[in-house]
Amino acid sequence: MFDKFREECGVFGVYGHREASKLAYLGLYALQHRGQESAGIAAADGVRVRTLREMGYVNEIFDEAALSGLPGHIAIGHTRYSTAGESKLSNAQPILIECVHGQLGICHNGNVVNASEIRDALVKQGSIFQTSSDTEVVLHLYARSQAPTIDQALAESLASLDGAFSFALITKDQLIAARDPHGFRPLALGKLGEGWVVSSETCGLDLIGATYVRDVEPGELIIIGPSGLKSIKPFATAKLAHCVFEHVYFARPDSEVFGQSVSEVRTNLGRLLARETRVDADVVVPVPDSGVCAAIGYAEEAGVPMRFGLIRNHYVGRTFIEPAQSIRHFGVKVKLNPVKSILAGQRVVLVDDSIVRGTTSRKIVKMVRAAGAREVHVRISCPPTISPCFYGVDTPRRSELIAATHTLDEIRRYLAVDSVAYLSLDGLLAAVGKKRDQYCTSCYTGQYPVAFPRDEHAYFQLTLKLDASRARLPEEEPETVG
Ligand code: SF4
Repeated sequence: MFDKFREECGVFGVYGHREASKLAYLGLYALQHRGQESAGIAAADGVRVRTLREMGYVNEIFDEAALSGLPGHIAIGHTRYSTAGESKLSNAQPILIECVHGQLGICHNGNVVNASEIRDALVKQGSIFQTSSDTEVVLHLYARSQAPTIDQALAESLASLDGAFSFALITKDQLIAARDPHGFRPLALGKLGEGWVVSSETCGLDLIGATYVRDVEPGELIIIGPSGLKSIKPFATAKLAHCVFEHVYFARPDSEVFGQSVSEVRTNLGRLLARETRVDADVVVPVPDSGVCAAIGYAEEAGVPMRFGLIRNHYVGRTFIEPAQSIRHFGVKVKLNPVKSILAGQRVVLVDDSIVRGTTSRKIVKMVRAAGAREVHVRISCPPTISPCFYGVDTPRRSELIAATHTLDEIRRYLAVDSVAYLSLDGLLAAVGKKRDQYCTSCYTGQYPVAFPRDEHAYFQLTLKLDASRARLPEEEPETVG
């Protein structure tokens, strides 16, 4: 929630329900954790597509009046956190265009790594872009396609893209879903009565009472229209690379992604973490909420009780007003509070899902110590995060990733803990079991399954060199313990 990789976006789509936009609205509630900057819905009634998108949370944007302006039996929706493109209204989605093939609305989860190359080429040929989002290139390719049908025009446009995409698209009488051949980001297909639903996570299906049917397959384009559901596989096959971080942190534990229960995988991560890094302790405390499943697994495996020694305030908005004379650690304190009766005098294992910069972890440890903990041992339910993500996740530069530039002992001293340990890469892959070869683990290995355009890669390499020479820990609150 604080110093974390930031989840990209959530997409949702409904076909064949007379209150499609209201269902999309509910689906977006379930996917709010995948993006909190902006949200939008586009709906179609067989004649016309209408859209509404705004900055803010889903419940701040849509009310009864707004949804009644989005009539029709088809709808798509989007929650967004910007990964490519600035955070502003023109980049909010769905983006809607009108072209020779008719109206098309698009919602995107992922990141097209060759978007700037395609964009530069199109600009040279006279295209005018209205947003700085990578998603807009798809619309330009689609509008320029000479293919005779919508399906073929879309298939042709999407085949030019490299990287990660799970799309929900809408025309005046169709819902379309597409997933890149690597299957980086999840996308589930569900059934609701006679209608169909697509959702980034199955928790979106659950909320509206839809039944999970299967995942939209990697490399699949599904077109749902008046003549039913059609599936095509227009892209070259590629090695699967599902984002393992969906299981570690992003997805809701009540979802199934990539055909696996998030809660189960996350609890397994905790069990394996205990097997690999066990330490004598009195109590296991999760960093809420994302550390809870792993802490349960750790506690079960280690035979140490788990207690909620940190309580999260769920009612803090995106911003809050601080006193001019700002209280130290205010940002963390407003969201988390330690339970002294659980922590005082105890040897505490603090379980979290990841450490990115380390700044927040350090503040949390300080809080736990101030509550009287005798020892603090930090356990992280994934390997050290050493590389940025280019597939639809907002990550800091490599120089800001504490594990990329510092040894385990330096991290221990920075966090001011008695010990710190991470799950191994083998442990991470063991937690996803049989599907271990189908996952992307680039942020832990620096080995990327999809190459970047040469200039971007060169920039990245240069950044690595510069970062290595400048590497240092954040300097705020310079105190050392341990
Ligand atoms: S680099 Fe990490 S966050 Fe990005 S897709 Fe791969 S596993 Fe997921």
